Amino acid sequence: MRLKLRNIFLVYFVVSSAGLLYALLQLGQQCDCTHQMNPINDVRRRKAPHHRGVENMPVIYVVTPTHTRPHQRAELTRLSQTLLLVPALHWILVEDAAERTTLVADLLAKSELQYTHLHMLTPPPMKLKDSDPNWLKPRGVEQRNEALRWLRENRSAKDQGVVYFADDDNTYSINIFKEMRNTQKVSVWPVGLVGGLRYEGPLVTGGKVVGFHTAWKTHRPFPIDMAGFAVSLQLLLSHPKAQFDLTAERGFLESSLLAPLVAVEELEPKADNCTKIWVWHTRTEKPKLKQEDLLEKQGKGSDPKILV
Ligand code: UDP
Ligand code: MN
Repeated sequence: MRLKLRNIFLVYFVVSSAGLLYALLQLGQQCDCTHQMNPINDVRRRKAPHHRGVENMPVIYVVTPTHTRPHQRAELTRLSQTLLLVPALHWILVEDAAERTTLVADLLAKSELQYTHLHMLTPPPMKLKDSDPNWLKPRGVEQRNEALRWLRENRSAKDQGVVYFADDDNTYSINIFKEMRNTQKVSVWPVGLVGGLRYEGPLVTGGKVVGFHTAWKTHRPFPIDMAGFAVSLQLLLSHPKAQFDLTAERGFLESSLLAPLVAVEELEPKADNCTKIWVWHTRTEKPKLKQEDLLEKQGKGSDPKILV
């Protein structure tokens, strides 16, 4: 009997010691916590090293015209979260609206970005109707000009910066922001999926732009998509009248801003001499909300308090 009790005690002692030892060993191990990581915190953690020296970087002013539509919040969420990955960035979001909307104001307030929220309504005769094809009228012109006006009023010769016109539906790699950061006058790069081509962009020889790869209206002075160039803030401030021409022929909007600012030979080719695609002229399909209309007629539409 005594022997049995001693054996039980011994087994108990060995098992609990082994358990304790195992627990102590686990404490020293690194766990695989990737699944537990809050993606937002993760972004900040990766952002931190970029932020070193942020005070000395020229600020990238990203100018985005935007307008109310069912998928606006989706587009702005995607874009704002790309911009979060870029240090020393100031987002100038300009609504095509008679006043600032709360939807956009709330999104910006929660974005953790440095931003300016403006609005400028496109004059009704120039405004695209829902039934119009996209190309019929220029889009976002008055809004981009409003951002230029704001920059001229709120920034001066001492501010180092670069201005980029980023529509709300395109797709941007963070690489394109690194490329444009040190623009002297106007930097350029190719844009994917535009102009009826896989890409449209400058042709470079010996580090200089010598022409353009384009198939549409090849006589345009600057056959470059809005997403394919950035302009130094200094250059814009030193040409106080330079802006986009609302009456420019289709395809000539970019040229209307650039022609008074720079010559083709002066363009600064980026993205590995314009051989890398780091921005795409994507477009979002218009959401079909036919069922919503049907349910609304029955008084059973989606909850309007739920923001989409
Ligand atoms: N946009 C606007 N008002 C409009 C239509 C478009 O402010 O009535 C904005 C839109 O949100 C986008 C930019 O202008 O940021 C270019 O418009 P869109 O993407 O429709 O044109 P695309 O160049 O793709 O044909
Ligand atoms: Mn677009």
